[in-house]
Amino acid sequence: MKKLQAPRGTLDVLPQDARRRLKVIATADEVLSRAGYEPMETPVFEDTEVFARGVGESTDIVQKEMFTFEDKAGRSLTLRPEATAGICRAYIEHGMHKLAQPVKVWYAGPFFRHEAPQAGRFRQFTQIDAEAIGSDDPSLDAELILLLDEILELAGTGPRRLRLSSLGSRDTRAEYLEELKRFLRAREDELSEEVRARIDQNPLRAFDADHPGTQAVMKEAPLLLDRLAADDAEHFAAVRALLDMAGIEHELDPTLVRGLDYYTRTVFEFESDRLGAQAALGGGGRYDGLIEELGGPPTPGVGFAAGIERILLAAGDVTPERQPTVFIAMAKPDSGRLAFQLAGLLRREGFRTEMEQAGRSMKGQLKQADRVGAYATVILGDTIEVKDMSSGEQQEASSPADVPSLLRSVHEREASAT
Ligand code: AMP
Repeated sequence: MKKLQAPRGTLDVLPQDARRRLKVIATADEVLSRAGYEPMETPVFEDTEVFARGVGESTDIVQKEMFTFEDKAGRSLTLRPEATAGICRAYIEHGMHKLAQPVKVWYAGPFFRHEAPQAGRFRQFTQIDAEAIGSDDPSLDAELILLLDEILELAGTGPRRLRLSSLGSRDTRAEYLEELKRFLRAREDELSEEVRARIDQNPLRAFDADHPGTQAVMKEAPLLLDRLAADDAEHFAAVRALLDMAGIEHELDPTLVRGLDYYTRTVFEFESDRLGAQAALGGGGRYDGLIEELGGPPTPGVGFAAGIERILLAAGDVTPERQPTVFIAMAKPDSGRLAFQLAGLLRREGFRTEMEQAGRSMKGQLKQADRVGAYATVILGDTIEVKDMSSGEQQEASSPADVPSLLRSVHEREASAT
């Protein structure tokens, strides 16, 4: 029969990697909780309109990358390609503007984009996201950058670059976009066909182009950073001053374009040289117009998203930590029920416990105990023996209830020896 495979661009996460992912999520929980961010979850699919309006009709994500389908009633639904639009939809739906502001939330889960799969780029990937909604205070922008930096550091991604820019307010940006369009139209014949075709829809994308002619033109293009209104420039300066104070180095990159339309003011991205072409570990920015765009009251917000697969790729291979484990071996075939009972007892007492479950010989069972990294093996025969796996010493337990204290003393001996 034909072997079945996971869909293209998706990833089976096998146990060792799954544990590493849980650790990254636990690290994010720890770092973000300390700063007052609470966990929140939204559905994996939403009305397509949430993303069409939220992320923006002209973006690559909406135009090319969404997994969109109809439900049985003919409604258009989409597997979420990013998190912020759904969270903002929920913020409006649940009247969260009535809570103390800013509302700070974080989440981790699967996201879906129909992109060409390559190293570090999948069609289903996992993001850690954090959002602070309801205040435009520049300390929130700086705080989120710092928190993401700390998560990346603790996850072992190694050195990284922080690119930073400001897109200004919607008005400044609209005026600037008109200026940029005029500039691009005047130099149209030097541009790549793709950029030319999208001057009206998304002129900012020209900064991202690989095409040498376009790149040459863009070196002379007007920059939004030079056109910021006074309050936006002040906001950006405040964010930068806080980052400087915190000792976070950053590169100003006026060409930083993020693939989502909703950003205003601060945008940022962390990159790693350890990744290939897909160098972004995570990024984000401010989206002061998004909630209004989705039908809510005017509400500022700022957030980040980081890909767990990329974080682990940058962190590299690590040998899995050995968990202190107890193994229960059976010297007699009729000890099965006692082994099962004792395993339950030990697990309830907090011991990580495995038992023989594959009919091995005694020799095979001791080998298995080594394989699972057991520091002690309980051998059930005519007597109950607790064997210290490093010294080989054995002690007899007077009853099953006596086993935990014997295990504790073996464990303590081991711990003081290391
Ligand atoms: P974005 O919203 O596009 O800035 O994505 C935020 C982060 O999610 C990126 O910096 C990546 O770490 C991760 N990411 C985005 N798209 C993918 C993908 N197709 N595969 C794996 N990770 C991704």
